Amino acid sequence: MQNCDEIDQLIKIISKLPGLGPKSAKRILLKLINNKDELVKPLAKSLTDVYKNISRCTICGALKSVLIKCDYENCKILDKKYDKICVVENIADQWSIESSNIFQGYFHILGGTISSSGNRKEDLLIDSLVERVKKDKIEEVILATSATIEGQTTAYYIQESLKNFKVKITKLAQGLPVGGEIESLDDGTLISAFKNRSNLISNSD
Ligand SMILES: [Zn+2]
Repeated sequence: MQNCDEIDQLIKIISKLPGLGPKSAKRILLKLINNKDELVKPLAKSLTDVYKNISRCTICGALKSVLIKCDYENCKILDKKYDKICVVENIADQWSIESSNIFQGYFHILGGTISSSGNRKEDLLIDSLVERVKKDKIEEVILATSATIEGQTTAYYIQESLKNFKVKITKLAQGLPVGGEIESLDDGTLISAFKNRSNLISNSD
């Protein structure tokens, strides 16, 4: 079947989204076409707004609108409420931890992991993490990176970057399944990994 270019192009883009293949892309396209005013128009506007206004905070890594200063509690330094900071790879990991209700404190979103093929350590928000630990007088840094080689390499590098600070560094318990990504863990596993987190170094004594 020969589609017009506009349709082919949209199907191609939708198929790139997580969890969607060409079949679901076609179903979504049909839904959109049949609801142009209710769906296509507001979707186009919303996508434009997100494209124009949303970016990652260069300090804490949270998503923020350029229209407002990052007042996300991740990087509130003046109004200090917590003495713990939880370091995650991606915002999806933060959402999982938040929904499990196991952690009360600040989050720091690295934006990925150090990997041989992709990210270098300079691409991740590691320097700003060190800054925050210093400025916010953080007492515990919880490394909640995935149980993958990249996640563990990243955790090790952060540990090294913080070794001269008076801060306790802990890591989620080894009970995490090998290769386990934080966002895909169920609440029970996540809660037990938090509760049984192990101490890496403590320079606070
Ligand atoms: Zn921020």
